[in-house]
Amino acid sequence: MKIEHLLVVGVGLIGGSLALALRRAGVVNRVSGLGRSRENLERALALGVIDDIASGSACARDADVVFLGVPVGAMETVLASLAPHIAERAVVTDGGSTKRGPISAARAALGPGFARFVPGHPIAGSEKSGAEAARADLFDNHRVLLTPQAETAADAVDLVIWMWRQAGASVTTMGAADHDRVLGLTSHLPHLLAFTLVDFIARRADAESCFDLAAGGFFDFTRIASSDPVMWRDISIDNADTLSAAVGEFIGALEQVRAMVGEGRGAELESLFRHARDARDRVVDQRRRTGS
Ligand code: NAP
Repeated sequence: MKIEHLLVVGVGLIGGSLALALRRAGVVNRVSGLGRSRENLERALALGVIDDIASGSACARDADVVFLGVPVGAMETVLASLAPHIAERAVVTDGGSTKRGPISAARAALGPGFARFVPGHPIAGSEKSGAEAARADLFDNHRVLLTPQAETAADAVDLVIWMWRQAGASVTTMGAADHDRVLGLTSHLPHLLAFTLVDFIARRADAESCFDLAAGGFFDFTRIASSDPVMWRDISIDNADTLSAAVGEFIGALEQVRAMVGEGRGAELESLFRHARDARDRVVDQRRRTGS
């Protein structure tokens, strides 16, 4: 099996890496790139991520698979401009970090073609952006979550599962609301905390000396604050209900920690740290054993 023509809209870290991974597997004949800046697409062409730069939305007419690798806030506009041109047989899928927003955008834009839209999210990535950051091995041994809807055609889901397996990933199917709730806690909340911590320190009068003396822990905790602000703005707004509830509960947890620290309740603090360390060690150990 091969994809004759893949159109990647948004040839960045995720879209570009998917193109490279499918090329590595030898399962795609032609990759076209569509995007915003000519500069990024020229770079993708020069790096061999894509075979050609698409001249506009009309190029979707020839595509067998359309992959949306744009920020979730751009999905609506991008889908609206592509929709009139997408072939009936084509499968459309995305890599957006939230699922309910892209699903609503696709439902509104694609009409009956919504049955061939397979919502997806690769659980792999980094803080880097653009075609330059794309890597053929990005998805190796990582999971991809698909959130098909009641209307989604079974053969479209099968094709997208096959595609991600060819790209080196394993695939799990789940509900979109569950996806947004779980990823809200383990991905979106940590990004919000990392951005907020760096911003909080950067605005202090003594910021320069704080950063000057920062140790490894600061850089470990805040690596993800180097991520693209537009991408994370869109994710935060799209998953606002989950995220604002999680922030509220987290503030409650911080208040408890503040009381433990302020009142010198060392035993309770130690017990919390121990509980957290054991939970993290268990997850890391399990990942190591399963190789995921
Ligand atoms: P990225 O490297 O910044 O790539 C996004 C690409 O989309 C860029 O090439 C950009 O073009 C293009 N783009 C932005 N707005 C556009 C618009 N309105 N119309 C057309 N093209 C547009 O971002 P990424 O990390 O690949 O993320 C892509 C998607 O994957 C996002 O939905 C994100 O939530 C999801 N995701 C990201 C990660 C991660 O770790 N980064 C992991 C899993 C899923 P220009 O270069 O010209 O600006």
